[in-house]
Amino acid sequence: MKKSLVFLLILALLSGLALPALAAEDDPLLTLVNPWNTLPEGWKVELVSIGNGHRVDKTCYDDLTAMLEACKTAGFRPVVRSSYRTQATQKQLYENKVRQWKGYGYSEAEARKQAATIVAPPGTSEHQLGWAVDIVDASYQVLNEKQATMPAQIWLMEHSWEYGFILRYPVNKSEITGIIYEPWHYRYVGKEHAKAIYESGLCLEEWLKARETLQAVENAVNAQVEELRRKAFVMLWNRK
Ligand SMILES: [Zn+2]
Repeated sequence: MKKSLVFLLILALLSGLALPALAAEDDPLLTLVNPWNTLPEGWKVELVSIGNGHRVDKTCYDDLTAMLEACKTAGFRPVVRSSYRTQATQKQLYENKVRQWKGYGYSEAEARKQAATIVAPPGTSEHQLGWAVDIVDASYQVLNEKQATMPAQIWLMEHSWEYGFILRYPVNKSEITGIIYEPWHYRYVGKEHAKAIYESGLCLEEWLKARETLQAVENAVNAQVEELRRKAFVMLWNRK
């Protein structure tokens, strides 16, 4: 066989070894906003009304309305309780919660700490991204764990990923998310990521970490493949 042909054949085989590339590491759809990561500086939203005084960023508008429509078509009654919030609104909600805890007899510091597990302090709420909505069942609009047993909620928890939304604060993940179990808070990450996150069973924080590890492995494997490719080239070139 001709030298060049063998070379091309090996090159083709080695190319197949490279892992498929992951989406860009800095995909804005995966922007992390939590107690330890504040809203990115100068975050821009393009607000669109979804009715009843609620607004979301344009990015998730189509998928959100499609999800709510599908939920209704399936026979349920989802109601949006909360959507985009400004820094001022978030501050007000947080301070109200702090006051409530102080009323229970907690110290200022302890009241702030407790309040933060329920209402994110200003600058750390996903609602400020314009990509988060709190949705409840029309028949039970209270924000507590019972919400998870409501028909509209059961449907949403099962299908939201199909519309690019994840249940952001799942059960047993409070230690990692810093927020209590919230079977009503949905965060938009786009369909591709939502499917992957849903299937992984991880919360966003865990998934981002896993993704980082996978990216490092991928880089290492690709570096090895490059090295093999280079060696094969040298070897074949030197063959007479
Ligand atoms: Zn929420």
